[in-house]
Amino acid sequence: MRALPRCVARIVLGLLVFRAAQAAEPFPPTLLDQARTVRERALSDDVGYELLRSLTTEVGPRSAGSPGDARAVAWALAHLRALGFKNVRAESVTVSHWIRGEARAEITAPWPQPLLPVALGGSGATPPGGIEAEVVPITSLAELAAAPAGAVSGKIVFFTQRMQKTHDVAGYGTAVAVRGGGALESSRLGALAVVIRSIGTDGNRLAHTGAMRIADSVRTIPALALSNPDADLLENELASGQPVRLRLRNTSVWGDSAHSANVIAEVPGGARAGEVVLLGAHLDSWDLGTGAHDDGAGVAIVTAAARLIAEMRPGPARTVRVVLYANEEHGGQGSRSYVRRHGAEVGRHVMAMESDLGAFPVLGVASRVPLDRLPVVRAMASVLAPLGAQFLGNEAGGGSDVGPLGELGVPLLDVRTDAAPYFELHHTANDTFDKIDPALLRQNVAAFATLACLAAQYPGDFGRVVKPKAR
Ligand SMILES: [Zn+2]
Repeated sequence: MRALPRCVARIVLGLLVFRAAQAAEPFPPTLLDQARTVRERALSDDVGYELLRSLTTEVGPRSAGSPGDARAVAWALAHLRALGFKNVRAESVTVSHWIRGEARAEITAPWPQPLLPVALGGSGATPPGGIEAEVVPITSLAELAAAPAGAVSGKIVFFTQRMQKTHDVAGYGTAVAVRGGGALESSRLGALAVVIRSIGTDGNRLAHTGAMRIADSVRTIPALALSNPDADLLENELASGQPVRLRLRNTSVWGDSAHSANVIAEVPGGARAGEVVLLGAHLDSWDLGTGAHDDGAGVAIVTAAARLIAEMRPGPARTVRVVLYANEEHGGQGSRSYVRRHGAEVGRHVMAMESDLGAFPVLGVASRVPLDRLPVVRAMASVLAPLGAQFLGNEAGGGSDVGPLGELGVPLLDVRTDAAPYFELHHTANDTFDKIDPALLRQNVAAFATLACLAAQYPGDFGRVVKPKAR
């Protein structure tokens, strides 16, 4: 008979533990149900895919300051209004404006062969007749810095380092330093021009463009990217041990700074309308393709996700704000302008998310929240489990457009996608609409919409956490 009280005690204890666990659940079951409904609706919704078809067809290339950039702003305003968003507006941003010309490259010795280069964004021009000089192979900026005095003076520096294929952005992050700083550092040392092995992992003969830094005090020299096959060819000629010479011609120029805009749209919140969940992507693109994955996909993903939030009943407690940033690719002025203009309300931004890694398979979600909020984001991530997404830790970076909000304390969520296929076509003429898989685009929309729903409805707050400054 003494077993009965112990059995009852166990049941009571079990009930208490169960109640405590329930109390610790960050989301009431009704909100989790709502998020699941949003997720499932996204998986059968092609608003994003059709938006992307429209953007790539009716606007196409839209590098900062170009006529395509202006058309993209008008396109975004019209489409966001047509989709029923509120407070749709363009907030003007002054952007840098570089104009691509014609780029040519050929090996003239020892074995003459034509190459298919593209200029890096920001490249200087050659004299009209071009330049011809001996090639000096250099693997990295560190090797350049350690080169003997005069080693590259009057020469063409060839940065040979190959980008490693990775499923996260580590391969890109390591390789891209040469694209950003190679021309500037080589110019300081008297080089005539640089060519770089493309920051990309594919074997297509299409080179990858991208931004390079310039400085007022340093001559802006021509800087061209070569495809991996062309870089291989140049290395094979160098392997002969004979002097290798290149002839380059490039006619790009810097224009005056130009007008562009961040385009903003909202789904107004209810009880907590003053608090903002920000979904960002960049509206500009490089000019070689139609910016389908970079970052038309992001534009489509965040817009379609917010559209699903607008259809929820009950509606979101917090305001969901879509920000389509100006000139992410070549100056980041849109991101800086947003922080300047909205500085007074940064404290009311409760979560920021950015889509700028294409519409590839969703691998998981990473956060940057105070440690005591980790159970909240784990609960959010668990709703993404049917998409195959895992929780990937608390080191979210936010991307280049919303990252600066993270540096001001705004919590971040990253939807991490497979970066390996992205960096095969990133910044090339191959970044076109046919490369978009509608099912993967829907999967990305589902991830953003689900997380945005839960961030907008979470009954608690996410706190503040300062992301270390990007270097
Ligand atoms: Zn991008």
